Order: sequence, then C-alpha cells, then structure tokens
Amino acid sequence: MPSPSRPVLPLRPELAGLEPYGAPQLDVPVLLNVNENPYPPSDDVVADIAADVAVAARGLNRYPDRDFRALRVDLVDYLARESGVRLVPEQVWAANGSNEVMLHLLQAFGGPGRTVLSFAPTYSMYPEYARDTATAWVAGRREDDFTLDAAAAAAAIKEHTPSVVLLASPNNPTGTALPLATVEAVLAAAAAVEGGCVVVVDEAYGEFRRAGVPSALELLDGHPNLAVSRTMSKAFGLAGARVGYLAAAPALVDALRVVRLPYHLSAVTQAVARAALRHAPALMAQVGSLRAERDATVAWLRAQGFTVADSDANFALFGPFDDRHAVWQGLLDRGVLIREVGPDGWLRVSIGTPEEMTAFRDALVEVAGL
Ligand code: PMP
Repeated sequence: MPSPSRPVLPLRPELAGLEPYGAPQLDVPVLLNVNENPYPPSDDVVADIAADVAVAARGLNRYPDRDFRALRVDLVDYLARESGVRLVPEQVWAANGSNEVMLHLLQAFGGPGRTVLSFAPTYSMYPEYARDTATAWVAGRREDDFTLDAAAAAAAIKEHTPSVVLLASPNNPTGTALPLATVEAVLAAAAAVEGGCVVVVDEAYGEFRRAGVPSALELLDGHPNLAVSRTMSKAFGLAGARVGYLAAAPALVDALRVVRLPYHLSAVTQAVARAALRHAPALMAQVGSLRAERDATVAWLRAQGFTVADSDANFALFGPFDDRHAVWQGLLDRGVLIREVGPDGWLRVSIGTPEEMTAFRDALVEVAGL
C-alpha cells in the first residue's frame, strides 16, 4: 500500500529488491577483505599531496581541466617505466576508480540489444556494469584451476557475439593472470565479431604480477579494439582517492569522452593523482614486499594442506571449507576480516603487513584446528 513513508517509485524492474554492492565495512583491527594496500602514504607523499591540493584549492571556483591533460602525460610516463610500453596522452583515459572507467566502456560499447561476455568466477562488479547499462550479461566458465582455455574463450565469443569482453588479469577473486597468448586468441576471435568487439583487460592488480608475466599493454600496438584498465587503488595505495585509468587506441578513448559526465575528474583528484605519481618508485618498493608476503602466504597455506590458487595479485584464494562462513566468522571473532567470495567453499585473504599476516595465520590455526 503506498503511503508517505513508502511512496510508489518507478524503480526499474530489474533493480527491484536489490541491495547495493559492497563488502561489509566493519571496524576490525586486521582488515584483509577488499584487497587494499595496507601501507598508508608516507609522510613525504602526504606532504606533497597536501601542497598540490592547496594549489588546486586556489582554483576551485573554476571547473577542472575536463581532459586532465597533465595527468594523462604523467600516466604515460608511469606506464612507460612500469611496463616498457610508451603511449601518447591521447591513448589514456581516467576516471573515479577503474570501476567508473569500465562503466564508461559499457556506456559507450554496450547497451540494449548488446552483450558483454566474461568468464566466471570473476569480479562481481562486472554483471553490475552490464545491468546498469542495460547490456545483456553472459559468463563463460574458467577451468577448474581458474585459468582460461583460449579455444573455449574464442568459441564463447563466436557463440555470443558480444560487443565487449571483460577479462580480469590478474583475476579477482582467484589471482590468475592470463598469458598474452590467451589474450591474443581472444582478440583474434573478437576481430571476427560482426559490428566489432572491444576486449578489456582489467589489470587492476597488474603491478603485483610475478616476474616474467607480461602486461597486455604490450598488445596495444596493432589492436585498436583493446583497452587495458589500471587503477591507483591497489599498488599505489590510493583507494581512497578514486583514480582509475585505461590505455587504448585514441579512437576508443574518444568514444569514452562522449559518455563521460562533464568535469568528471575533480581538480582535487587530479592533483592527488599527479602528486602520487611523482612518488611511484617509492610506492613500488612496497609492491615488492607485498609480492613477497603474498608468495609466503600462499606457501604457508599450502603447507597447511589447503588448495590455493596461483596468485599474481595482492590476495590469495584458498579452501576448500565445508562451512566457509563459519571460518570467516571465526576469523572475524578474532579480529581478522577476510572475504567470503568466489566459488562455494573458498575464502579470499588480502595481503597485509607482516604483522597482519601473522594475526591471520594465528587466527586460522585456531579456527581451522590446524
Ligand atoms: N577491477 C578489479 C578486478 C577489482 O578487483 C577492482 C576493485 N576491487 C576494481 C577493478 C575497481 O577498483 P577501483 O574502482 O578502486 O579502481
């Protein structure tokens, strides 16, 4: 019955009864649940960010540079140093987190009557981008070890003729990185889709990849339908700043400029991102220790008899548990918050500081009776 407290709202039927997406934000001593970087920005970085934000603040009566040209130049330089691939600023796009970057992609290349294809288990926001842009969502399967079979992926593209393929590499929640040969097979299948197909490689965790694992940035040359998405939320430890970006051919980036809201990237955000990029080498040093901590965590979990997915990210997926919720709750009761996500029976732990990982191991020993 409509009433002043329960008015009739014309909610889109597909949204009826849905809860907003998001992991529980709990006040717990050890937070290992949303793949954040456990290291806050250093005093140097904080001081630099504050100084640049103060400069930006003096111009806040004006709208920001809509095309964030200076930030694009800085991102080009960063990507050249990080992966050896030199782009031009017209190949870079940025937004409020890579979530918004990917929403822009779906706004431009998805839409009613079109399909976005991905391969499960994968990042749980992907179906939400599809829903919010009225794009049909199809999830193919990964193999039992969470790798992607190139021939199966190509066959799925042929069958579903998507206008967008989303590939997370390293994948969340499994940590699995894709060999370039698999991405190339997907690109070849996508090139055969009538009307075109954009392949998005989501490298949100790209900087954590193990030595010798290449970035899909290397494939940009010669693939005008490839977009490689990155974020400053993970390796840079700037999740709170909300800065994501992608690299693609200039024509693809131009299509995203059409769907973005005007001035979507605030002057403050641009200033924060640019200041942090100047400190990229120091921030990357922490990535090295997080990688080492990740490898040690995977080895320890395996030594306890768990199955652990190979990880190129800053988290590990482990199991199996008959009652994963009980284990998750038991850890939470001991002040350690991890994530109940992924296939049934598995849990995901983000990599924290050495002290946090000790707390995680001690709690797990108790809860799992190791
Ligand atoms: N892609 C993947 C695979 C992720 O796991 C995440 C964050 N959890 C994102 C993209 C989005 O991150 P952000 O919006 O902070 O850049």
